[in-house]
Amino acid sequence: MDNQKSYFKTTYLSDLTYIKGVGPHRAAVLKKHGLQTIQDILYYIPRKFLDRTHIMKINSVRTGDEAVIIGKVIAKGIKKNRKRNSFQVTISDGTGIMTCVWFHSISWITEKFVEGDLVAFFGKVDFYNGLKLVHPDFDLLDSGEDPINTNQIIAQYPSTAELKSMGFDSRGFRRLLRSIFLKLEEYPIDPFIGLNTGTVRLIPLSDAIQSIHSPETLEKIKTAMFRLKFEEHFFFQILMALRRCVLREATGRIFDKKGDYVKRIYDRLPFTLTKAQIKVLREIHHDLKSPIQMNRLLQGDVGSGKTVVAMLTAAIIIGHNGQAVVMAPTEILAEQHFTGLKKYCDMVDINIVLLKGGITGDERASLLSKIKDGTAQLIIGTHALIQSDVIFKDLALIIVDEQHRFGVDQRKILIDKGYHPEILAMTATPIPRTLAITYHGDMDVSVIDELPKGRKPIKTKIVTPGRLPKVYDFIKKEVEKGRQCFVVYPLIDDSEKMDLEAASTGFEKLHKKIFPKLKVGYIHGKMKNDERDIQMQDFIENKSNILVSTTVIEVGIDIPNASIMVIENAERFGLAQLHQLRGRIGRGTEQSYCILVQRKKTEAGLHRLGIMEMTNDGFEIAEEDLKMRGPGEFFGTQQSGYGKSLIVNFQEDGAIIRKARQLAFNIVEKDPHLTGSPHQNVRKKFMQKYKSMLDFVNIG
Ligand code: ADP
Ligand code: MG
Repeated sequence: MDNQKSYFKTTYLSDLTYIKGVGPHRAAVLKKHGLQTIQDILYYIPRKFLDRTHIMKINSVRTGDEAVIIGKVIAKGIKKNRKRNSFQVTISDGTGIMTCVWFHSISWITEKFVEGDLVAFFGKVDFYNGLKLVHPDFDLLDSGEDPINTNQIIAQYPSTAELKSMGFDSRGFRRLLRSIFLKLEEYPIDPFIGLNTGTVRLIPLSDAIQSIHSPETLEKIKTAMFRLKFEEHFFFQILMALRRCVLREATGRIFDKKGDYVKRIYDRLPFTLTKAQIKVLREIHHDLKSPIQMNRLLQGDVGSGKTVVAMLTAAIIIGHNGQAVVMAPTEILAEQHFTGLKKYCDMVDINIVLLKGGITGDERASLLSKIKDGTAQLIIGTHALIQSDVIFKDLALIIVDEQHRFGVDQRKILIDKGYHPEILAMTATPIPRTLAITYHGDMDVSVIDELPKGRKPIKTKIVTPGRLPKVYDFIKKEVEKGRQCFVVYPLIDDSEKMDLEAASTGFEKLHKKIFPKLKVGYIHGKMKNDERDIQMQDFIENKSNILVSTTVIEVGIDIPNASIMVIENAERFGLAQLHQLRGRIGRGTEQSYCILVQRKKTEAGLHRLGIMEMTNDGFEIAEEDLKMRGPGEFFGTQQSGYGKSLIVNFQEDGAIIRKARQLAFNIVEKDPHLTGSPHQNVRKKFMQKYKSMLDFVNIG
């Protein structure tokens, strides 16, 4: 290539400072918003489009119309009013007259118009004292200012106060893009050129980019959006396919026989496994038998019985003299797993240990040596497990609970402590399908979609505080029948002190005034562990009837006799959290009840509680949660930039995601290093635009 020439060429990788009107100062602000190169701006997707192709006559507009009107300014002036001043411009287009009104930015607007000017106005038509356009957009058509708004479909860009202060409102972005299109000599790499995309029809990338920023028809915008969405999902799926491929290339081990431990645990189970549990165990065993490393996600709602599945999986590995770990995101969860699994381990003399963050000195040293010499067969812990002094004799199975709460790098460190260990991720957070195949697209998925027999669906009801006396009477009756009850108070980081006070006050009231004859326990997160354990143990043994708590009980307990849960200030909880909480009841054979006390009315809160009242199905709740919060929030962590993408929409993109996934997986299966000539551009663009997502995928 001619270096001299390309040096001066304006390409998609050029810095924005090359563009007229973008000085260092404005460039710095754009950069702060993630917009540094021309490519960044080209992929800056409008948030909506306004159709201004249909110019209307004043005598034909109606109230409520989104109108484009072109007329001459016949009068202008500031109108003083008792309440507030306004600036008014009256225009005529030959068929009638209409007034445009501004209540703010008056001094700036006042300067803009001269009588006799031809102006295009865009706005919603209102009617009071005649036809009005309030705060319309406008283009001066006579002033030599280039009309970039009129007779077109107008892209509206996302912006911030800071961007606007630099002139980057929608109009500013449109100007910037226009300058870019005038200068741009090389468009971003089109990965699909020369590629067989099967039945999926994709327009060239340069066309799509132009259609998005200077759209000609609504139809073209649609085709362009499809093209751009497809590309975004495609590269994410390429990443998933590559990750999966790396695991598949690694030769895992063969764990063929189920072994003695499995048989013995099986014989001692106090229940028979559900069909779903058996199906999932079969899928897992199939992976363990094959030389390909297992990389499986086990989804199952709270209470669906994942623990015993995890145990039987670990038992196969331990039967082959391998070690298994369970890594959980919090201490409480780790403790719960430890307690839950220990029951089974004790039946068959498997040596299980819990490695907690707080353990130090000799105790820690002794634990570490057991892990190192293989005495510890099943190891439970938190992030503490990835510390460098934790060394295994033969780590052969990793079970990661709620893995989206760990970074890829953290998982990687743990994986490297073993020799191609089998990986089982577990989650009680039901994940909508479109999200599962994107965020967990590199894994096989197993679902326990059936609850153990005999569970009655929980009845859920929203109440206002006025109804509480009735609720308390109901609780008394249920307790007389032998049942137990949780009362949960929210505990949010931001208002922790006040929340703790509310919970203590609530406890005092319930304990002294409302249920003086019953035994009421109280636990909260700030309590010493032994004290909490005593309270917990009392409740487990049915020595206390009611347990008041802050959100600490979200995870960690299994008390089938507890059949009522009152959730205070329920509107403050998110859907996922409400679902998790509610999962603590409905575990026995008696009918369970969940009472959501709503103290503050907000629309979003009411919507959430309404969903809880309507369904017990975790997947349905998850879909709603995703709709309300978006994927980034849904997972509680920001994932590799994808969640922030302006163009993807997980509610709407399901079909696109599936097609993009199929194409990506086909390509990587045939050409895992993307070195084949039709894949040159795929590879180039992946390395150039999606490199930061690469993490640990090595494509050579
Ligand atoms: P999860 O971890 O999926 O929330 P658990 O494994 O804790 O669920 O199981 C919830 C409860 O159901 C436990 O008390 C467990 O002993 C019990 N359980 C698990 N599987 C079955 C089954 N097949 N039949 C009856 N009870 C079961
Ligand atoms: Mg295997």
